[in-house]
Amino acid sequence: MNGDQLKEVLSLVSRPVRYLGSEVNAIRKDLSQVRLRFCLAFPDVYEVGMSHLGIQILYHIINGIKGVACERVFAPWVDMEQVLREKKIPLTSLESSTPLHQFDILGFSLQYELCFTNVLNMLDLSHIPFLAKERDDRFPLIIAGGPTTFNPAPVADFFDAIVVGDGEEVVLEIGALALQWKEANGKKEDLLKSLSRLKGVYVPSLRQEGETVRKRIISDLNQAPFPTCPIVPYMKVVHDRLNLEIARGCRRGCRFCEAGFIHRPYRERDPKLVQKTIHASLEQTGYEEISLLSLSAGDYASIGPLLSSLMDRFESKRVAVSFPSLRIESIVGHLAGEVQRVRKTGFTIAPEAGTERLRRVINKELDEEVLFRGLTEIFSRGWRNIKLYFMMGLPTEEEEDLKGILDLSRKIASVGGRQGIHPSVNLSVSTFVPKPHTPFQWERQIPLEEMKERLQFLKDGVKRNRLHFKWQDPHLSFLEGMFSRGDRRLSRVLIEAHRLGCRFDGWSDQFRFSLWKEAFEIAGVEMDFNTQKKRLADSLPWSFIETGVKPTYLWEEYQRGLREEVSPPCPVEDCRRCGLCDGKRLRVIANRARESGSYGRIEKVVKGRQRGMKQKIRLTFTKREEMRFVSHLELVHLFHRASKRAGLSLCYSEGFHPLPRIVFARALPVGVESLREIVHIELEKRISPQEVKKRLNAVLPQGIEIVEAKEVPLLSSLTPFPSPAVYWISLDHSLSREEVIARIEKALNEKELYIDQERKGRKRKVDIRALIERMGLKGIEKGAEETGRWEVELVLRNEPGRTAKPPEIIEAILGLKGESLSRCRIIKVE
Ligand code: SF4
Repeated sequence: MNGDQLKEVLSLVSRPVRYLGSEVNAIRKDLSQVRLRFCLAFPDVYEVGMSHLGIQILYHIINGIKGVACERVFAPWVDMEQVLREKKIPLTSLESSTPLHQFDILGFSLQYELCFTNVLNMLDLSHIPFLAKERDDRFPLIIAGGPTTFNPAPVADFFDAIVVGDGEEVVLEIGALALQWKEANGKKEDLLKSLSRLKGVYVPSLRQEGETVRKRIISDLNQAPFPTCPIVPYMKVVHDRLNLEIARGCRRGCRFCEAGFIHRPYRERDPKLVQKTIHASLEQTGYEEISLLSLSAGDYASIGPLLSSLMDRFESKRVAVSFPSLRIESIVGHLAGEVQRVRKTGFTIAPEAGTERLRRVINKELDEEVLFRGLTEIFSRGWRNIKLYFMMGLPTEEEEDLKGILDLSRKIASVGGRQGIHPSVNLSVSTFVPKPHTPFQWERQIPLEEMKERLQFLKDGVKRNRLHFKWQDPHLSFLEGMFSRGDRRLSRVLIEAHRLGCRFDGWSDQFRFSLWKEAFEIAGVEMDFNTQKKRLADSLPWSFIETGVKPTYLWEEYQRGLREEVSPPCPVEDCRRCGLCDGKRLRVIANRARESGSYGRIEKVVKGRQRGMKQKIRLTFTKREEMRFVSHLELVHLFHRASKRAGLSLCYSEGFHPLPRIVFARALPVGVESLREIVHIELEKRISPQEVKKRLNAVLPQGIEIVEAKEVPLLSSLTPFPSPAVYWISLDHSLSREEVIARIEKALNEKELYIDQERKGRKRKVDIRALIERMGLKGIEKGAEETGRWEVELVLRNEPGRTAKPPEIIEAILGLKGESLSRCRIIKVE
């Protein structure tokens, strides 16, 4: 798909910004000047993939290799897939719109079993055969990495090579080998042979019976590269913030948790390095929130001082700090107070099981007294939304444990009630899925019918307790279980499922269990063949993947769980308990905890700036080319972050969620360009309007340009219904000049012209005739005789409760729809 094809197609799909690839910090190298082309492929939609830290890390590492270009591709959403198939356009990378089959290496990130059909779909849209054995030297090398590769069996037939474990080092080694291979004009099998010698790389076609693959481990995270200029998406992605990994692995040893076991040992990043990276990254991105990532951020030894330091440094810049997971013990004390200093970013607590007995089985320590003390603190500080995570179907679970989920949730809600507040308690329940490389890898998965019964029990209980309840569809959990512990037979099932139309199976609105049933049947594989309990002697499909943790240790942990015995967390001192650490290269790395003080220089918070210092700047800007696909809300974020990157000291509103004082004159419809948009920004520190213009233009993406900046009185405001807007519209050749004139005349002769509109899910009828001040053929665009494009001028009024978008007018008056409408170029000139 070339750039022009892309532009036409983008107007036909929802959320076109997913496919632009020109985001801030995206790297666009000249592919003709590089020796190796690498494409990172994420088999889910853009907003999920761009929230994944691994993609950002690998993207910058690979692009850092001399002579190598790394681009990205995400699974096209269903509407885009339809358009690509209808128009016979292959799937292309974001940065250069290069078809995937033209890359040397295509590297898939496999985060979740239910994205496997998307992998096949992306290959299919690129005309690349699914099976590795059917791909010769004409096709790219297809590789994979990510947590699901710890059991690679279900997808082994599709990949040339599979990376197991930490990717930062091994991706450099793969890049170096691939460069040599390309320069030597070698055969694919030569490259595969050299890749199979790398630690952590599994080449399915070359592995001999009995050979094992040992996972890759970065022993010291401080030595691992971490990007300080991550890509900043235009659209709101799932984790729309600066993500920084403060630790990898977990010391706790929860027996159900795959991440905890496959990412052992626990390794922390040095807090000084964390601080430095955050500082550099905020300058490059302009983010307003930092998320400190770790499987259990509260366990980070220096979390208190680190947080104090970050808040001291960034509170004045209104940068909030959030955590994906916190243990309640860490909240008691000062963490809640620190997080609150900028914004209440919400609290999630994961008791996982409803009774203390079952929590002993799963080795999830939770002291209920500490829990209630923590909650009292949270509520007293003004938090109202609490999210709780539980699992059902855990080993040894009884009805008592399910009741325990309801009782504990109700008690949590009543803690708020005792303080005179009514918190919103959101209870999320998913079904336990036994995962490879955990102590519960031998455990049974409860049958689908049992899952439904237990879920119904909870649903009935929740109604009586007035809790907000969310649950994962048991069919999804069932399928996840099949693939988590599945074997190579499942590749046949995947091919059938894809052929039947399965895509985005992790999305409940796209998931169709009946198709999966059919796929298993056609492939001749029993649907519940691996849900049963397993024995120690059983051969497991993933047993050739070595995490370093001894299977006998996992089995002993499993037995301890069944005996309701808890095991201690990984100690910081020398330990050999599970067999992974060697006390030298591999060991737990936890920074020395500090009770007080901070890391790095502290900038004192400047509070209550003098009113006389503030100023308001009126900016006039253009929004051209592909920036027309950026929605109004996305534009607000874009200006906020650009202002921060430009070093402007924005003023913020008061309250729990302070917002920057950036006000736009009006919202421009998606797909419409503009030569003249107005925005007011309020600044805390005085600066010349020309300097504001210069600094912003240096950081704004191509297509948005400040053309004028001037200071206006602080009290001046933008009128909510500004003067009529003038649009110039280039039409495609589907209508003759005479037809255009006749249709406009007919419409203008009407007294009323009603259209159906939908805004924010509400339908209404609007008389567009009353909104049209002027409409007519403006003259023939230069060269229009040859290209068949005619230029129409449309002047539209804005009235309270009654607005219309130019595409709505074109469709109603000229009758253009779909592709004809998408080919119209609309520019707001005044
Ligand atoms: S050897 Fe000890 S410290 Fe290392 S991962 Fe295993 S249990 Fe944890």
